[in-house]
Amino acid sequence: MSYVDEVIEQVIKQNPAEPEFHQAVKEVLESIRVVVEANEEKYRRDALLERMVNPERQFKFRVPWVDDNGQVHVNTGYRVQFNSAIGPYKGGLRLHPSVNLGIIKFLGFEQIFKNSLTGLPIGGGKGGSDFDPKGKSDREVMAFCQSFMTELCKHIGADTDVPAGDIGTGAREIGYMFGQYKRIRNLYEGVLTGKGLTYGGSLARTEATGYGLLYLTEEMLKTNGHTIAGKTVSVSGSGNVAIYATEKAQQLGAKVVTVSDSTGWVYDPDGIDVAALKEIKEVNRARLTEYKKYRPNSEYHEGRGVWGVKVDIALPCATQNELNLDDAKALVSNGVLAVCEGANMPTTLEATKYLQENGVYFVPGKAANAGGVATSALEMSQNSLRLSWSFEEVDSRLKNIMVGIFHNLDDAAKKYGFEGDYVVGANIAGFEKVAEAMNAQGIV
Ligand code: NDP
Repeated sequence: MSYVDEVIEQVIKQNPAEPEFHQAVKEVLESIRVVVEANEEKYRRDALLERMVNPERQFKFRVPWVDDNGQVHVNTGYRVQFNSAIGPYKGGLRLHPSVNLGIIKFLGFEQIFKNSLTGLPIGGGKGGSDFDPKGKSDREVMAFCQSFMTELCKHIGADTDVPAGDIGTGAREIGYMFGQYKRIRNLYEGVLTGKGLTYGGSLARTEATGYGLLYLTEEMLKTNGHTIAGKTVSVSGSGNVAIYATEKAQQLGAKVVTVSDSTGWVYDPDGIDVAALKEIKEVNRARLTEYKKYRPNSEYHEGRGVWGVKVDIALPCATQNELNLDDAKALVSNGVLAVCEGANMPTTLEATKYLQENGVYFVPGKAANAGGVATSALEMSQNSLRLSWSFEEVDSRLKNIMVGIFHNLDDAAKKYGFEGDYVVGANIAGFEKVAEAMNAQGIV
């Protein structure tokens, strides 16, 4: 059996009931097979892949908090410090009822290669809890965040591990967590990113993942002889990534016709009204059913359906495995040109394969959504320098990074004879740097 297959089998055996983690490991290892085969003897002797698929460290802890009626609740907190070969652990905190160790491990594993692709000195980590901020009062969210940070603060630090936002963790949650960290550790340092602008946050961090997705998509299309202006786009999700992807797509002259949340989706033939979307989601924290009040010509549908709409470009920006084989078939039969992932692993392995086999340009999340973590790293730099850069400066660095990432993965794919396969390109480009750094640092 090949080394890659052996390690995949071992991961499945040693980590039962973690299907998302298995999926992420399979995707990465299968697409770097050609590099592993070229170095098989050395990698086997050094157990390089075994070390890469095992987190350096992981924490699981109790998070008790009191609701507004005096009732105590207990959630589970996680932080997985996956790989620090190229820098301090970096990766978001997800607050969603679906969170479990397997989900955090899949996200942490992906983060290693994503962070490497940015070209910045950041290792891979991820964390979160099964706490659901939806429907909770601000005081309840604060109580949870303070309890969560009371344990987490023992394991993180500006030069050790720097968490950020993710699903369910926005500016409000980061603020409460930062306050508690500072209070307990008596350290005013850049231990979290995604902070508010009055206490060390970076301009353009809020926009970064969505904007970055579009900068990379634009460069990929340009390289292949297409433009983004005039294209019709479907976006899923209506959170941080979806909102700013929609905003930048429209600024670049495309028309975004869909957004969604976990209960339904909107079709707006005239193009999504971003100001209305921001008011509904960022200000009122309401559901998409509200959108029709702003745009009477739009349609609201319960359930799933975004991928059935005829578009040129699809941008999945909600959550993992939200675009399956049937969705891929619908997109292809409607003549889709490109699918670029704003979320982490939103496309199933079968759907990815189908899209690629049918000539659709496909860019995986670890490259396409790396603008968020890249700008988080820029926030860390500003915190270390005790300086704040202008919006334009951060945005232009972000754009350069995204353009650089695309050419990095495009070149890697070409170098190994997989021209146009951006999954292979991204994984190889991300892997090579981490492997080299691990090799140089000995058996640790
Ligand atoms: P948000 O919490 O701001 O938004 C998530 C959106 O996805 C919401 O519209 C939510 O709907 C929807 N959603 C979440 N879970 C599900 C589900 N199980 N089924 C259907 N819809 C769902 O998160 P972000 O926008 O920050 O993150 C979105 C994705 O992008 C995630 O995969 C995240 O890991 C990834 N990402 C985020 C980065 C960032 O900077 N924020 C950086 C890189 C990647 P509802 O409100 O109904 O729950």
